[in-house]
Amino acid sequence: MAKYVYDFTEGNRNLKDLLGGKGANLAEMTNLGLPVPPGFTITSDACRHYLAEGVVPDGLEQEVAEHLDALESQMGRTLGQADDPLLVSVRSGAKFSMPGMMETVLNIGLNDESVHGLAKQAGGNDRFAWDSYRRLIQMFGKTVLGIDGDRFEEALEALKDRRQDTDLDANELQQLVETFKGIVREETGKDFPADPREQMRLAVMAVFDSWNAPRAILYRRQERIPADLGTAVNIVAMVFGNVGNDSGTGVAFTRDPGTGRQGLYGDYLQNAQGEDVVAGIRNTIPLEELERIDKHSYDELLTIMETLENHYKDLCDIEFTIERGKLWMLQTRVGKRTAAAAFCIATQLVDQGLITLDEAVTRVTGDQLAQLMFPRFDAAAEKKKIAKGMNASPGAAVGKAVFSSARAVELAERGEDVILVRRETNPDDLAGMIAARGILTSRGGKTSHAAVVARGMGKTCVCGAEELEVSTAERTFTAPGGVVVSEGDVISIDGTSGQVFLGEVPVVDSAVVEYFEGAAPDDDLVRAVDRIMRHADAARRLGVRANADTPDDAARARRFGAQGIGLCRTEHMFLGERRQLVEDLVLATDDAERQAALDALEPLQKADFTQIFEAMGGDPVTIRLIDPPLHEFLPDIVELSVKAATEEATEKDRKLLSAVKRLHEQNPMLGLRGVRLGLVIPGLFAMQVRAIAQAAKEVPGATPEIMIPLVAAVQELEAVRDEAAGILAEAGVEALIGTMIEVPRAALTAGQIAEAAEFFSFGTNDLTQMAWGFSRDDVEASFFSNYLDLGIFGVSPFESLDREGVGRLIEIAVREGRAARPGLHLGICGEHGGDPDSVHFCHEVGLDYVSCSPFRIPVARLEAGRAALAETDSDTR
Ligand code: PEP
Ligand code: MG
Repeated sequence: MAKYVYDFTEGNRNLKDLLGGKGANLAEMTNLGLPVPPGFTITSDACRHYLAEGVVPDGLEQEVAEHLDALESQMGRTLGQADDPLLVSVRSGAKFSMPGMMETVLNIGLNDESVHGLAKQAGGNDRFAWDSYRRLIQMFGKTVLGIDGDRFEEALEALKDRRQDTDLDANELQQLVETFKGIVREETGKDFPADPREQMRLAVMAVFDSWNAPRAILYRRQERIPADLGTAVNIVAMVFGNVGNDSGTGVAFTRDPGTGRQGLYGDYLQNAQGEDVVAGIRNTIPLEELERIDKHSYDELLTIMETLENHYKDLCDIEFTIERGKLWMLQTRVGKRTAAAAFCIATQLVDQGLITLDEAVTRVTGDQLAQLMFPRFDAAAEKKKIAKGMNASPGAAVGKAVFSSARAVELAERGEDVILVRRETNPDDLAGMIAARGILTSRGGKTSHAAVVARGMGKTCVCGAEELEVSTAERTFTAPGGVVVSEGDVISIDGTSGQVFLGEVPVVDSAVVEYFEGAAPDDDLVRAVDRIMRHADAARRLGVRANADTPDDAARARRFGAQGIGLCRTEHMFLGERRQLVEDLVLATDDAERQAALDALEPLQKADFTQIFEAMGGDPVTIRLIDPPLHEFLPDIVELSVKAATEEATEKDRKLLSAVKRLHEQNPMLGLRGVRLGLVIPGLFAMQVRAIAQAAKEVPGATPEIMIPLVAAVQELEAVRDEAAGILAEAGVEALIGTMIEVPRAALTAGQIAEAAEFFSFGTNDLTQMAWGFSRDDVEASFFSNYLDLGIFGVSPFESLDREGVGRLIEIAVREGRAARPGLHLGICGEHGGDPDSVHFCHEVGLDYVSCSPFRIPVARLEAGRAALAETDSDTR
């Protein structure tokens, strides 16, 4: 029979798929002998079953009851027992951490009787017991019963009347419990459930359901977490941080998650329960102050943190609670960090001898590297600093201040840059956080919701800028000196230094970009990047080329490490003043006129290619012969029709109009383009090949490769290849002649096509378009968001390669192409060539290189190295 429940002593850190991150790590800590409150985990298999079938799997309730019985005997207390109750928390915990996105209910087991038992357990501490009880009703009401959390918040605020929540006494809290119970009755028509086991059962189901809460769905989509994983649920014996001032709760990192610097980073809140810290409800104190408050627990915590770092060989974050001087570990995981910290930590761990350089490369990602290439504020610019908060997530963000998530989304949809300003954020702000360029809060530390989520997203965030008075109702904030910023005013926030500026501050390139441009590494971060990039380059098997079609792009690509050009699109070379010549070509009525237009284009093309060959200094340059339909180079049909109808219209205008009409297609993407154009307009491709040959002769060492686009049948390729080969031979120039594989038929007949092609380059933009039947120009804007909502795919197939469909076409073409021509050179030049996951696919399928836009080259180099290393050590991927 399936096993759905694991005691903490039964699990371990490798069982994240089953037990979720939290459950697997609680088990790991239990087995390390660390002080973890006893408990057990209901597997994500059970959740998946529940979500699919609408009922929990057979046998689950029985298994949970048995584990609860065992927990009760271990603790010597019964759940909710009137005079001496065991209380438990019910905590979500999916495979991938989704901070604050799913539900947790604490203090399960309290009711009108056991609240007295709890007070007795705590040495007659009535205040604590009633505080715990009101928290249960509040959390349970919101999470399990679906009551609007504001109803409870408002009642609490009214009672507090500007005091801290710790100032409420036992009587007031007891009164609050009655008010809360009233709210439950009003909202649900039923009493708050007093039966402890029923409370637990309902809470487990609510955690399961929270997997599909809108904010969780949104977060998963943002973080590319699969929608079908489900969450595990942890049932943990309660320990209390809110028993008094000898108790408290905190969050800590074993190093600074912002910079990677070693040291003690964390927040502590005295006399509080776990959720208070993350929610940023009260301002926390730095963890160092715990040494003064409770030296014994502090020392123990430091030892545990060291144990965890050495055990996990990585930065860990932890949640802990101190109950009357006794330290308890409630959670650990390999902690989220900024991109800069990821690089620094990885190399520090190498220096400490904890990991190898191979592992260090697998510990950082191309997405993180891309983040480091974002611009930062110009140090020399004049700035009007109005406040300083915590540097929660680095980067430079400029935008209009907005004070609600909805407004952020609204303005961002209109294309405006916004900074979301809040006192503190909560999970409901997620949509606004995604829409904003940056996030600014006046409360909460580096572990607050805003900070954790922003870091995870790579979004600039300054948090806890306490000098700011934020008024959500008036949509303003006031900075020291009476500066008032209203909605719509532009501000700039620096997530690296924590500074907030009035107005727009100019931004400059990042130091990492300067390094890739050739500057010597001169700070820790750039040194770490340099070290990791060198190692990735040494490890990778894939070559990295650039998609570049101007000499400037080619030169930048080369500085960024491109080993050639994998796609030089020649279309743009026909724009601008040269349109005139294209028009002449289209309007030509006989061979002589056509040839005259081509003769005029040839020297211009030759100059284009010469410059690119010079910029690439002998590295291969794959030049793709012209691809898009000719009408794209001609005037707009509507404008031309209007002009042709007027008196000033010339004979040429009328001729052009009829040519445009003749060339008009309902489906230009599937029409007269690519190789088809070369076959239909005599001399066009030949002119390009001659220009390439002449340019190559002029630049010593030039290595051109000629690529034919949109081939679907080998016969198309043969015709063009024969003509091109003749021209090259006549010029005495050597160049490979190959084809793009971007039409499904070409992939499926790759064996035949390889007979005529010396290389293949996968044009995955068109291949995706044609494999899915998705118009690449339309669908992303029109209905992809519905498809993402429906879970048809987790990420657009135009962004990240669809392994199952498009990937399969590539696999077939690789296999059959190489079978026909061993050693066939293979690359990819669609947008996917710079997408991390797609680069891994290209490695796995055995391509020789990826080609991508110049700015993505470092990302592709790193991911190619990671892919190679993951192959040798599947554990570290
Ligand atoms: C492709 O289709 O993937 C490709 C690289 O060509 P283009 O984007 O120019 O159509
Ligand atoms: Mg294409």
